[in-house]
Amino acid sequence: MSSSKTLLITGVSSGFGRALAKEALAVGHKVVGTVRSTEAKRDFEALFANAAFARVLDVTDFDAIGGIVAEIEASVGPIDVLVNNAGYGHEGIMEESPLSEMRRQFDVNVFGTVAMMKAVLPFMRERRRGHILNITSMGGHITMPGIAYYCGSKFALEGISEALGKEVKPFGIAVTAVAPGSFRTDWAGRSMARTPRSIADYDRIFDPIRKAREEKSGKQLGDPQKAACAMLAAIAADCPPTHLLLGSDALGLVRDKLSALAEEIRAWEAVTVSTDG
Ligand code: NAP
Repeated sequence: MSSSKTLLITGVSSGFGRALAKEALAVGHKVVGTVRSTEAKRDFEALFANAAFARVLDVTDFDAIGGIVAEIEASVGPIDVLVNNAGYGHEGIMEESPLSEMRRQFDVNVFGTVAMMKAVLPFMRERRRGHILNITSMGGHITMPGIAYYCGSKFALEGISEALGKEVKPFGIAVTAVAPGSFRTDWAGRSMARTPRSIADYDRIFDPIRKAREEKSGKQLGDPQKAACAMLAAIAADCPPTHLLLGSDALGLVRDKLSALAEEIRAWEAVTVSTDG
């Protein structure tokens, strides 16, 4: 590796965050990871003496974020790379799922991520360098029934990442939205929030989807360790991508979506342009 960097990664207790932290430590980077318990903090710091540091933070504790980031900058060193990984999936038919579940989904996946970026940006801007990776999802490009709130949160994050990238490019800061397909993490297991069923009309469309997701959990195609290596390649790149898909499932589904979208735009083109003038 050419240069050692300091990475701040949210949610390093399992899944992508843990895998990325381990791979980054193995190639000589310093990692500050956020966790949600003192036990997880001890466990993470035991990974690598003097290179693995943990801070206890729930990303929805918005008022605490600025202080923690400033403390990391002062005590560990300048944050070169922020990886907003902390997040979870809400699963539930939209009509059945209370607004409180949507608020929680957006608080963690969107507002928590934005709060982290707002805390880190003044330091990166001052230094005129930095890289932010936001872990979105293929669900930030494509949708399926039963995860409307999740897709909404990840579409939001894709949009925010892309717009922010344009705002901070002049300051030497890159923003990459990383959209994984299905990977073997705790996402569809312990981390998923599942709204109970209540409207029989949706049984036919949704029950097979919920069952298949439960059965597939732990057996998904994607390997988080390989995702970690792919993210490290993006971090090392001179010109990091704005969007990075991970996994052949994500590639196929997003390509299909884009060509269906192009086809629909073509089919309705006459109506589209009829509103000018
Ligand atoms: P995971 O193994 O369940 O890891 C999720 C991590 O996020 C855990 O460390 C968890 O901490 C942390 N977290 C959750 N809510 C948090 C909060 N409010 N504040 C701070 N930390 C919080 O699942 P994962 O798949 O690695 O998830 C990481 C990211 O990848 C998520 O944004 C997810 O949406 C995205 N993603 C996953 C997949 C997939 O197939 N696995 C696909 C596309 C995108 P605790 O241990 O304390 O709960």
